[in-house]
Amino acid sequence: MPDVFADLVGQDEAVDTLRRAAAAASAVLRAAAVPSTTDAAGDGLDALAEESDGGQPTAAVDAGAGMTHAWIFTGPPGSGRSVAARAFAAALQCAYGTGCGECPGCHTTMTGTHADVRMVVPEGLSIGVNEMRALVLRAASTPSGGRWQVVVIEDADRLTEAAGNALLKAIEEPPPRTVFLLCAPSTHPDDISVTIRSRCRVVPLAQPAPEAVAEVLVRRDGVAPDVARWAAAAAQGHVGRARRLARDPEARKRREAVLAVPRRLTGVGAAFDAASALIEAAEAEAEASVAEADAAERAALETALGAGGTGRGAAGAMRGAAGQLKDLEKRQRSRATRAQRDALDRALVDLAGFYRDALTMALRAPVAPVHTDTAALAGAGAQKWDAEGALRRLEAVLECRAAIEANVKPRIAVEAMMLSLWKG
Ligand SMILES: [Zn+2]
Repeated sequence: MPDVFADLVGQDEAVDTLRRAAAAASAVLRAAAVPSTTDAAGDGLDALAEESDGGQPTAAVDAGAGMTHAWIFTGPPGSGRSVAARAFAAALQCAYGTGCGECPGCHTTMTGTHADVRMVVPEGLSIGVNEMRALVLRAASTPSGGRWQVVVIEDADRLTEAAGNALLKAIEEPPPRTVFLLCAPSTHPDDISVTIRSRCRVVPLAQPAPEAVAEVLVRRDGVAPDVARWAAAAAQGHVGRARRLARDPEARKRREAVLAVPRRLTGVGAAFDAASALIEAAEAEAEASVAEADAAERAALETALGAGGTGRGAAGAMRGAAGQLKDLEKRQRSRATRAQRDALDRALVDLAGFYRDALTMALRAPVAPVHTDTAALAGAGAQKWDAEGALRRLEAVLECRAAIEANVKPRIAVEAMMLSLWKG
């Protein structure tokens, strides 16, 4: 059975760091468990940090150096930030302190059922302050399993300022057995505040090489080697995306539709049509991805509200029901918006890959194309546009991504991009 780090593709250095930290964390627990050293070592990381300041060459010094309360995992989308955070959480809860992948601590963390591990996955465009306060409060409790309280915050770049401040307070004065694992694209101040950054240890993840991604698709997911190689290249280092392309025919169809765009741009009208098609495809994909969760949530809430409808509290419950349904609808709208943006962004990344192929071909650069199946079309583009024209088009796609990121209405940004792609 592979251990919990097996799915971290092409991240040897980060895995090494995390293994050492998990071992150090285990040493902290062992030190706390020995009665004679309990007073000296305390029950957490701070005591060890103080001890290591004393410069004593003991196991505790290693522990203090290897482990800390707050971590940030950075890397491009798909590089495995949340995979790394979850694996590390499992290693912290592992009965052997290694992330063996087999003990109950590892197993329940990896399946998302460990009582002391909370994964925060923002469903809207940001994580609000109330959500964060509740989380910080719960994280301060004593771990029921006797090891660590672990809070994993995916997309920590989506914290609101107020939520960030609430989190900062917890990181500045962490409860002895609480560990925060944040995931963000980078440590740029746009992604994570400087003050939070200064309190965390950073684990940078690299964009995994296509060969490494293909290898894991074959080994873990049973994908045929040639399909795995194609999907890994087409996904441009995004492991989850490569997996979807390899296994989901709908995802392949959507990608093909996106890559048909350059061929379809024959005039102004066609450019606007292509913009509409791209937006609508993203909406449809997003709708499909959230519809099931929406329906399940609504049914669960209706059941909860309808239960015991004749008791004394029923009238009050009914008054509260409208508000709760409204809250749910608001959360679901927010999640739908985010799903649309994510779908559109994936399409833009595919499109950027096409123009990047045209550019590298125009420059005769000795690199493999991102999209092997449209390489001939990209080659034709390279001849027609030359390197400069290909570069202008690539920039138009990247500008569109940046504009949407900066809250320009997606339709407006995409229409502007399509016109630029047509005119060149
Ligand atoms: Zn284990």
